[in-house]
Amino acid sequence: MERESLEMDVVFVGAGPANLSGALHLARLVKEHNEAVAAGKREGKPLGELEIGVIEKGAAVGAHILSGAVMDPRALGELIPDFIEQGAPVESPVKEDEFLYLTKTRAIRSPITPPPLKNHGYYIVSLNKLVAWLGEKCEEAGVNIFPEFPGAEMLYDERDAVVGVRTGEKGINKEGKRKANFEPGVDLLAKVTVLGEGPRGSLTKSLSQRLNLNDGREPQVYSLGVKELWELPDDRYPAGRVTHTLGYPSDTHTYGGGWIYGMQNRILNLGYVTGLDYGDPLLDPHAEFQRFKQHPAIAKILEGGKLLRYGAKTIAAGGFHAMPQLYADGVLLVGDCAGFLNSQRLKGIHTAIKSGMLAAETIFEALLAGDFSARQLGRYETLVRESWIMPELRKVRNFHAGFRRGRWLGIANAGLQFITGGRSWGLFDRASSEPGHVALKKLSAYGYKGDALEQRYDGLRYDGKLTFNKLTDVYHAAVGHDEDQPAHLHVLDTNICAERCAEEYGNPCQRFCPAAVYEMVEDPGAAGKRRLQINFSNCVHCKTCDIMDPYQIINWVTPEGGGGPDYKNM
Ligand SMILES: Cc1cc2nc3c(=O)[nH]c(=O)nc-3n(C[C@H](O)[C@H](O)[C@H](O)COP(=O)(O)OP(=O)(O)OC[C@H]3O[C@@H](n4cnc5c(N)ncnc54)[C@H](O)[C@@H]3O)c2cc1C
Repeated sequence: MERESLEMDVVFVGAGPANLSGALHLARLVKEHNEAVAAGKREGKPLGELEIGVIEKGAAVGAHILSGAVMDPRALGELIPDFIEQGAPVESPVKEDEFLYLTKTRAIRSPITPPPLKNHGYYIVSLNKLVAWLGEKCEEAGVNIFPEFPGAEMLYDERDAVVGVRTGEKGINKEGKRKANFEPGVDLLAKVTVLGEGPRGSLTKSLSQRLNLNDGREPQVYSLGVKELWELPDDRYPAGRVTHTLGYPSDTHTYGGGWIYGMQNRILNLGYVTGLDYGDPLLDPHAEFQRFKQHPAIAKILEGGKLLRYGAKTIAAGGFHAMPQLYADGVLLVGDCAGFLNSQRLKGIHTAIKSGMLAAETIFEALLAGDFSARQLGRYETLVRESWIMPELRKVRNFHAGFRRGRWLGIANAGLQFITGGRSWGLFDRASSEPGHVALKKLSAYGYKGDALEQRYDGLRYDGKLTFNKLTDVYHAAVGHDEDQPAHLHVLDTNICAERCAEEYGNPCQRFCPAAVYEMVEDPGAAGKRRLQINFSNCVHCKTCDIMDPYQIINWVTPEGGGGPDYKNM
């Protein structure tokens, strides 16, 4: 097959806050350097015009970006000190914070907001608007952005050094044959490739396995955030108000909590996070979110409002202990795919931006030295360690692990860490030495039988006003994939689904997927048997299936470019 290859200097994979900040910072460092050398203010050679590219699998920059979000502006302020004056799209400064403990019927307001959830001085943002704005800044600085270009494969040389990335093919039908519009993927060759794919990146996963980047680290653990935007009939929840909740509907063994953020124009941004290290095989994070909305205190806020949008995405919560090696020959990892999120504060935008900037500084030095080996790029890890990222993540290093022992010990541990600066004297350290799916228990361990599924969410009705089923919600994520293409969810052995998984776990993929992608249906070829049907066109690219499948036989790969959700204002 004739395949085009394009030589670039640096390729950033994924147009999230981490990579866009990295690309922008790098373009500026190079420009400044060239100008200083030309003016005789700096010694050395000019670097010339660099080819810096950012590829993004979504149809536009921001289309696959979903976050809370309350943003700590520390890093954006370093990247663009006058970001407000320059028109960064923020919804509102945070004006009020509250923390609620929810029982089934009551909301108990904490007299003090726990320090990690204090957000004064921060901003409520729609992250996909903010990254679209960062994308414009990149283009103004001469960075090339290529939406609809998924990074499908890493390219290596004979020494296993990364030499670029191959983008996905277009125009393959569901039988795997070429259609009239077939276009092969392009080989983007680069001196340095930066992976900023967000949580559970598909290239990051294959790279880490091939180069053993996770050796000696704890496995990453994840949560799933399920979210809706609502339009309210009046100003009952003003822009700038922030509410976080703990308790109902999660049981005390399941990590979970809710958020409500007031945005402009009476838009309410609310969601629920469930730790993807839960035990109950019948748990359904989307249903948990619906139950959260049914809580009297939340339902009251939503009364008379209208659902506007829906989305779901995973969060890398393992933090400090789970960070992989951040570099190898020709490659760097930034943002969530490198595990920079602070799970105690549920904040990763600031660390993503900062890590992108530090990657840019590393690459700049490598360009000057003309050396892109791991030895040179290892400087990135030093810069990260010397920056404010590491002290911040070290202080909360055992936060998520504490919740593996249940809610009350988790809270006690969080309080202890606050006082001790992260130490927990072996009480909670390494509690997350196993990936989250290992915590999932079999149906028999819960004594589930017969109509257990119906009983698990007994009382949850999808009324189309307050509560919505997955298909209605998926419609509000504006998801689109060309249906005549191979499924991008590779289930390596579907026999396991029909027999072993059905019996042992009751096919939990039908529940942990927040987009109704997985369905067990009657098998027309075998009377009385069921088979797995993959409705891949519903996929919102959250990656939960790749993470949570108990047999680890689901492999999420990038679909044809441009497919997926079309998030707006999320
Ligand atoms: C529900 C939820 C709530 C959150 N709340 C907050 C909050 O309140 N405050 C806060 O600071 N943080 C919050 N976060 C975390 C924050 O969103 C992330 O830390 C941050 O977005 C990470 O940035 P990133 O650039 O690493 O990755 P992402 O923002 O995930 O961006 C990655 C980009 O890469 C693209 N991509 C992935 N793989 C490929 C590929 N192979 N080829 C091409 N493109 C690819 C994706 O489509 C996406 O556009 C929240 C996250 C979630 C999910």
